Amino acid sequence: MIDRSLYDEQKPLDMHNLQFDIAAQHLQVEPWILEKIKAPRREFSVRFPLRLDNGTIVHLSGYRVQHNTLRGPGKGGIRYHPQVDLDEVRALAGWMTWKCAVVDIPFGGAKGGVTCDPGAMSLAEKERLTRRYIWEISPIIGPEQDIPAPDVNTDPQVMAWVVDTYSVFKGHTCNSVVTGKPLSIGGSLGRLKATSQGCVYVMAEAAAATGLDLAGCRVVVQGLGNVGYHAAEILHDAGAVIVGLSNVQGGLYNPKGLDPRKVQAHFLATDDLLSYPEAQAISNQELLELPCEVLIPAALEGQIGLGNAQRIQARIIVEGANGPTSPFADDILYDRGIFVVPDILANAGGVTVSYFEWVQNLQKLFWTEEDVNKKLRDILVRSFKEVHDIARKEKINMRTAAYMLAIGRVAEAKRVRGIFP
Ligand code: GLU
Repeated sequence: MIDRSLYDEQKPLDMHNLQFDIAAQHLQVEPWILEKIKAPRREFSVRFPLRLDNGTIVHLSGYRVQHNTLRGPGKGGIRYHPQVDLDEVRALAGWMTWKCAVVDIPFGGAKGGVTCDPGAMSLAEKERLTRRYIWEISPIIGPEQDIPAPDVNTDPQVMAWVVDTYSVFKGHTCNSVVTGKPLSIGGSLGRLKATSQGCVYVMAEAAAATGLDLAGCRVVVQGLGNVGYHAAEILHDAGAVIVGLSNVQGGLYNPKGLDPRKVQAHFLATDDLLSYPEAQAISNQELLELPCEVLIPAALEGQIGLGNAQRIQARIIVEGANGPTSPFADDILYDRGIFVVPDILANAGGVTVSYFEWVQNLQKLFWTEEDVNKKLRDILVRSFKEVHDIARKEKINMRTAAYMLAIGRVAEAKRVRGIFP
C-alpha cells in the first residue's frame, strides 16, 4: 500500500513519484526495473554569469535532467521561470519520458530550466542567458543524445539561439539539435500550435467518450502562453464559447464569450489583462471553478488539488500544462464523474510534432501542414483509444491508465536491453 501522507501535492516531484507508484501497483513489472525507470538517469547542474544591460553581473542556476534514454534520445523543453529548481526539472523530465512513451514516439524524456525572471529581462539579456546556458549544456545535448524544445517562457526565437550556439560549439550548422525552431532554419509547419491542436483533438475524443456535445460548449482556459492562447483561438474559431481566460495577472469572465484575439491584443497594448473592458475581472482560483463544460489548465503545475477539486464544475479537463492536477484531486474528480485527459496524453501534441520536425531535419525534407496535422491526429486518437481502453478495463482514471501504458513500454525496453555490464 502507498502511504499518501508522505507526498506533498505542492511538490511536482512528489506528484510525479506518486503517479508512478499508483500505476506501478497495477502492473506486474520486476521491482528492479521499476526502481531503474522511476528516477532520472542523468542530471546536470550549471551555474553561470550573466551580464545585465546595466553592466551588473549576476549568477544564475540552470539544469538539464535526462530522465530516461532507453527508447531513444532525451527529449523535452527548456523553461525560464523563478520557480525552476532541480526537483521541478526532475519531475518535468519524468513526465516527458511517460509522454513520449504514451504516444509511442522513439524518445526518452528530458527537461531543462534556468531559475530566472524572464519578465524582468530585456531581449538582449534573454539572448545572452540562452547562449551561455546552452554553451554550458552543449556537451550533453545533441540530435542523437538529447533534443531541447520550447517550454514556459521560451519560444522559437530562443530555439534559434540554441541552434546558433550549439552550431558554434560543433563547428558546423546543426539544426536537428532542437525543435520548435523558426521555419527559416528547419522548423516544422504546425509546430507552434501543435500542443494546442493536440489538446483539441483529444478533447473531441473525450467528448465522444462521455457523450458531451461540443457544439457551443463553454470553455475556460487558464494561461495565455503558447498552449493556452492557441487552444482558445482554435476553439473560438470552431464555435466554442470561451467564457474564461487568464494569465499571471488574473482571470477574465464573460458568460457570453470572449474573443481570444481581442483579449491578447488588449494585453499586448496595455500590459494589463484585467482592464479588458468586455469582461469581469476574477482571480485565478475563481477562474478554475467557473461553470463550463471544458476546463483547459495551460499554465503551471499544482492548480487543481485537495483545496478546490470538489468545486470544479467542468465535465472534462484537458491538461494543456504539465502537472496541473494532483493525484489526490484525481481521485475526487474521478468520483465526481469529471473526465480528466492527463497531461502526458493531452499535451503530447507538442512533442509529437517535435518528433516530426526532427525526422524532417534528419531526412532534409519538409512536410505540408496538412500532413503534419493528419499524422498528429492519427497518433493522438490512437493513443487516446489505447489509454481509454485500459481505463475502462481496469476501472481506473485516465492518468493511471496512461502511466500503465507508458511504464509498460519503457519497462519492456529495459527488459530487452538488460543491464551493462
Ligand atoms: N515543452 C513541451 C512539453 O512539455 C514540448 C517538449 C518537446 O517538444 O520536446 O511537452
